[in-house]
Amino acid sequence: MPCEALKAYIFDLDGVIYRGDELQPGAAETVNALRSRGERVYFLTNNSTQSRSQYADKLTKLGIPARPDEIMTSAYAAALYLRQVKPDGRRVYVVGESGLKEELEQTGAEVVEEPDGLPIDFVVAGLDRQFNYEKLFNAQQAIYRGAEFVATNRDPTFPLEEGLLCPGGGAIVAAIETATGVEPRLIGKPETYSLEMVMTLAGAEPAQTVIIGDRLDTDILVGRKAGAHTILVLTGVATEEEAHDAPDEMKPERIIRSLKDLRL
Ligand SMILES: [Mg+2]
Repeated sequence: MPCEALKAYIFDLDGVIYRGDELQPGAAETVNALRSRGERVYFLTNNSTQSRSQYADKLTKLGIPARPDEIMTSAYAAALYLRQVKPDGRRVYVVGESGLKEELEQTGAEVVEEPDGLPIDFVVAGLDRQFNYEKLFNAQQAIYRGAEFVATNRDPTFPLEEGLLCPGGGAIVAAIETATGVEPRLIGKPETYSLEMVMTLAGAEPAQTVIIGDRLDTDILVGRKAGAHTILVLTGVATEEEAHDAPDEMKPERIIRSLKDLRL
């Protein structure tokens, strides 16, 4: 990997920088060393539960000072997508958490909490730890009436402390997809939309970008699709065996045990 030509280092969050509130080994040291060398570091997460400013606060508290404009999330990318599709006024029903609603509202969308019979333009779904039958019903009805179905991500799981894997946004999206028979427009990884946005922020071409992630089916696949360099770190979801057995389009260029092993 031609490190001298790299312009942007894009780190996934869950399973790479932290698990839950636990910083991963070498994460702060690696990010801070890159920055002290003048490298551009960004964070790209499919987790839509928090806003960019909430992630910036979390990273800063964990010892990695970060600004919202160094972070791209599937929630913010979804908000930008909606604005691009329907710039003049959009009503959105959200199956998701506060961070997703915050990004949508800050980009000018009206978030409909209780459907009122007026048209809804989009249903946006991601991880929602208060998901229930009523939300599933509301989402289904809005889609039946013509709302576009947008998914922030389809991650089946996400990693927490002590090896715990929890149900991810993909499990929620699948429920709505099953109830409606409608396939969502996917915004997060492995679609390239959010990665392209962060590369634009960085002013970097794919060949000048490396994505460092813990999932083969999102981080590595999106990097390969976009033509960026890819590094799999084994502190999250994927194992070394899975990486070796993966189809070509999900094979990382490098595998490291933890960010401590990232030789830059
Ligand atoms: Mg991850």
